[in-house]
Amino acid sequence: MKRINLLTKYSVIFLAAFLISFIFLSRITDVSNETLLVYSVFSFVFYLITMTFIYKEVNMPLNKIFNLSGQLKLRDEDYDSPEYFDSKISELNNLMDDLERMKSGSVLNKEIFRIINEIHSIAGRTLHELETAKVFKINRNEFMGNVAHELRTPIFAIQLSLETLIDGAINDEEVNMDFLKRAFNQTSRLKELVDDLISISKFETGVKMSKRYFRISNVIQKTAEELRALAGKKNIEIKIETSDDPEVTVFGDEQRLQQVLVNLIDNAIKYTAGNGSICISQDIKEKEVIVRIEDSGIGIPQKDLKRIFERFYRVDKTRSRDIGGSGLGLSIVKHILEAHSSRINVESEINKGTKFEFSLKR
Ligand code: ADP
Repeated sequence: MKRINLLTKYSVIFLAAFLISFIFLSRITDVSNETLLVYSVFSFVFYLITMTFIYKEVNMPLNKIFNLSGQLKLRDEDYDSPEYFDSKISELNNLMDDLERMKSGSVLNKEIFRIINEIHSIAGRTLHELETAKVFKINRNEFMGNVAHELRTPIFAIQLSLETLIDGAINDEEVNMDFLKRAFNQTSRLKELVDDLISISKFETGVKMSKRYFRISNVIQKTAEELRALAGKKNIEIKIETSDDPEVTVFGDEQRLQQVLVNLIDNAIKYTAGNGSICISQDIKEKEVIVRIEDSGIGIPQKDLKRIFERFYRVDKTRSRDIGGSGLGLSIVKHILEAHSSRINVESEINKGTKFEFSLKR
């Protein structure tokens, strides 16, 4: 079916109606020529007023809506260019302003107002999606950059040690073992980093927890025992203040919560100087158990406290790299606790120590 412009269609209908009525008046009824002239002039004026009305109320806003809605189109191929997001976001913001102005205009009829409202809400949703996609893209790029950077450091160190051995150090009894150990230590670091990356990607895609009731004090004891040797190397004492009451159980994924304790106690050991101390305690409340890990270590500056749970965030980048660690430990802790509807709190004072605290449902 051929589509015709509304104004053309109306003009044809009007002309046909005018001719029929004119012929009827002049031939069948006995109307004077002056009356026919007045009738024709009135009809023409009526035609002009109606046309102007249709044009202003329907054609003009519909044309404008058509032109504006073209801005809603998103092209997949442009998603790779960083400028695309910013230009499209500002284009959509302008579109929303234009639609807002049209909505507040006075000549709009009800149907057109509804169309504008609908396009306005579609534009709003598209804008929101675009902003989310932009943040996602920035995060992904930043994450990829961080991963590459973190992987490069141990790989480079391994390569250097092996190169030195190949270049002759292999035959030097005094240093060959040293270079081999260095390379081996860096492979452990690589493994730790890859394991943490796998954990992070699992948690971020929503891994299922296997929750049941268990005694958290047992897990605290077990974890502390496993890490006591590491603490012993720095002459750090690990104190445990937990209740032996068999009634005190918490509801959660035992293995994952042990990972939380390992990460927090391991950090406490890493960031506490020799001869310091670490205390792991619990507070038993009516509906929850609060677990606390306190150390007498170097502390964290106030300005960094909010950011230490971000992926790869380190307070002191050079020092942390020397100490080891992927920079993902606390991010993993946060994910696991969130999956238990719990949050981790941290308080710290420089050169006095740090206290991490979280609660678990009983
Ligand atoms: P990392 O692998 O570098 O330890 P984490 O995510 O576990 O990464 O910790 C992030 C940063 O928070 C660390 O680099 C360190 O600067 C700081 N941090 C974490 N725990 C402690 C602590 N107990 N004492 C002092 N600083 C800490």
